[in-house]
Amino acid sequence: MRHVRQNDKFRASSRSLAVRCSVAALATAAVLTGCSGSGATGSAPAGQGGPAKAPDAASARLAEQRRMVAAARKWRLDQVPLTAPAPPKVKPRITARAGFQVDHQEDENLPPVFTTVPTDKKIVFLTIDDGAEKDPRFLEMMRELKVPYTAFLSNYLVKDDYGYFRKSQAYGNTLDNHTLTHPYLPGLSYEQQRQEICGMQDIMEKQYGKRPEVLRPPYGDYNQDTLRAAKSCGIKYAPIWNEEVYVDHWEYREDDQRLRKGDIVLTHFRGTSDWDGTMVDDMRRFLNKVTREGYAVARLEDYL
Ligand SMILES: [Zn+2]
Repeated sequence: MRHVRQNDKFRASSRSLAVRCSVAALATAAVLTGCSGSGATGSAPAGQGGPAKAPDAASARLAEQRRMVAAARKWRLDQVPLTAPAPPKVKPRITARAGFQVDHQEDENLPPVFTTVPTDKKIVFLTIDDGAEKDPRFLEMMRELKVPYTAFLSNYLVKDDYGYFRKSQAYGNTLDNHTLTHPYLPGLSYEQQRQEICGMQDIMEKQYGKRPEVLRPPYGDYNQDTLRAAKSCGIKYAPIWNEEVYVDHWEYREDDQRLRKGDIVLTHFRGTSDWDGTMVDDMRRFLNKVTREGYAVARLEDYL
């Protein structure tokens, strides 16, 4: 799997213009409907003879938009992140990406490995792996900006502080399986792989109350035994990723180096001991790019 580097550090030169939707601008109705990118279109504007509740709804919306603008400014984003559309009523049918199937993928109904979710919405999915860094400011940032993500946890990195991820879960994010010790799974026997995956299912159930249905194999590496073992542990999906964001650059799976609707983006719970910045810096890079390109961040599990 080839990764191509593209350094986009010079593309954020407009940051000094600060948050596009200023609090002052929110005073105008035109900005109200077009600024936050909220999917909440169609509610009646205040003062047009609608039901008595309308002014309350409008003022609540205004208050929320003001809060989001303040949050974007606090975390030094270029723009307020776009709000994802409502989850689909009918979930998309997800199959293994071409070239990523194993033998008997379909007839054994093995968990599909995929990098993009089929959708016509301009959304991407944020996934964050491993669990080494436990930055409280990251939790605060994502909660205040209402950006959903899926965390793939590996026990050897999270066992010193399960509580950190319990907070993440309490804020509405999903915790999924990334094995006990983060091995190169294809180098292990079926039974060893099963221990890595089912063992982590047990930990997740004990610590977080739920056995995940989603596994990310470490390094994105797997074989048929991986998917058979995963299925036997209750796993239904094995998403990997189409882009990876680092604190100082992006990497792309595709040659054209652009985001696609439904792409799964990977980053890591890493901080200044691993790279030149914090998780907040990493998320700022991620959010500035996806927002600039018109993408909202949606919750992966809403589509599975
Ligand atoms: Zn990993």
